[in-house]
Amino acid sequence: MKAGDMIQVTITGISHQGYGIGRCDNIVVFVPGAMLGETVEALVVEYKKKMATAQLQRLIAPSPERIDARCPQSSQCGGCELQHCSYAYQLQAKQKIVADAMQRLGRITTPVEPVIGMQTPWRYRNKGIFHADYSDGAVRLGFYEQGSHTFVPAADCQLFSEAMNGLVAHLEELIQNSGRAYYIHKVMIRESAYNGDMMVVFVTQEAAWRLPELAEQLIAYPGVVSVYHNINSNLKIMLGRQFRLLAGQETIEDTIGDFHFQISPQSFFQINNQQAHVLYEKVLEYAQLTGQEQVADIYCGIGTISLYLAQQAKAVIGIESIGQAVQDAKENARRNQDERCTFVAAKAEDWLPKWAKQGNQLDVAVIDPPRKGCETPVLDALITSGAKRIVYVSCNPSTLARDAKYLCQYGYEVNAVQPVDLFCQSWHVETVVLMSRKEK
Ligand code: SAH
Repeated sequence: MKAGDMIQVTITGISHQGYGIGRCDNIVVFVPGAMLGETVEALVVEYKKKMATAQLQRLIAPSPERIDARCPQSSQCGGCELQHCSYAYQLQAKQKIVADAMQRLGRITTPVEPVIGMQTPWRYRNKGIFHADYSDGAVRLGFYEQGSHTFVPAADCQLFSEAMNGLVAHLEELIQNSGRAYYIHKVMIRESAYNGDMMVVFVTQEAAWRLPELAEQLIAYPGVVSVYHNINSNLKIMLGRQFRLLAGQETIEDTIGDFHFQISPQSFFQINNQQAHVLYEKVLEYAQLTGQEQVADIYCGIGTISLYLAQQAKAVIGIESIGQAVQDAKENARRNQDERCTFVAAKAEDWLPKWAKQGNQLDVAVIDPPRKGCETPVLDALITSGAKRIVYVSCNPSTLARDAKYLCQYGYEVNAVQPVDLFCQSWHVETVVLMSRKEK
């Protein structure tokens, strides 16, 4: 097999990025866009180490679950890889992705529950980062194609509210009319699902003197309550460290379930409010609290999970590395009148081992790390702390499986694996895992 070959392949598996996997001449072939059970004609674009990637050319036997995508750009845009699949198929595919990772990388055979999906899996995103494109003469905001820097305009993105899309169109016009605003590199927008308030962050690569003027105009737009400037010269990351308020208020307010949260621009907040509630309820259920437990919420962000847990715990300690997120968490505990929560601004891998070494004991730990998973010292400290249960929340099945395997080697077992669909139309999936210490 070589690049340029046209092949026929039947899809029998699905990769962690949602690509169809088949075999041809005993070679594993990845076909983006091809669905389980389909036979397709595909053009080999890359072949190395007995693995090939091929571009879907023609459906020979299409899946009955194949549907027309809502968005005309979905086959190019890197945001929605699964719009051409029925929602039932999307949920089954994600269940399989999680089960494959747990078995293959974690050697864990605990059955994976069916993915909890959304009633209406559209217009759920409360945050977007839009790249600015100036190549067309007119300013456009949008996204990149998957794995490249080819620009795709946002247009009427089906993952955002109509109000958010309206603001994107307004911003394009505003930036265009402001003359020399081409230094704007990206724009981040957050929209509160609670009251519709919107926060806008202009991202530039260097200092930009026209932005305060632009912010003054923007704050007059209905719904916009906060405008920030972020300088980021490192193209490998989305946002720089420094945020400067240009107009309006410092934070926006949002809710998950009955809890109210203030959110700063640099703080993490789940992008799907409705499903975050489902996720956090599951965390609480798995934690099995009676009101007597000392609980840790590691990688706690603005204290969302901490507040859910505190309803039924003796005390919750939240650990989070971003100082501003910890400030938000403290304010959120105060707002929700919860005195059982305390928060620490530190890296989990620095703080937790010291804390455990001092003899502090935990009854239950919730961990919700970024995509790269936990550093080993965090897992070791959890083992030392004596936690009876660990509830692991993860947005990356691969690192989840790796970390769960490690904990299983040191006395824990996996009791339940529950994926929740927070990222409908894309291949991303969130998973909650209940682990408990095996009786000796
Ligand atoms: N549990 C929260 C946030 C989860 S996202 C929620 O559901 O909203 C992961 C969080 O871990 C982010 O807030 C990120 O800032 C934080 N984080 C990343 N690396 C960390 C580290 N080494 N130590 C502590 N927190 C970290």
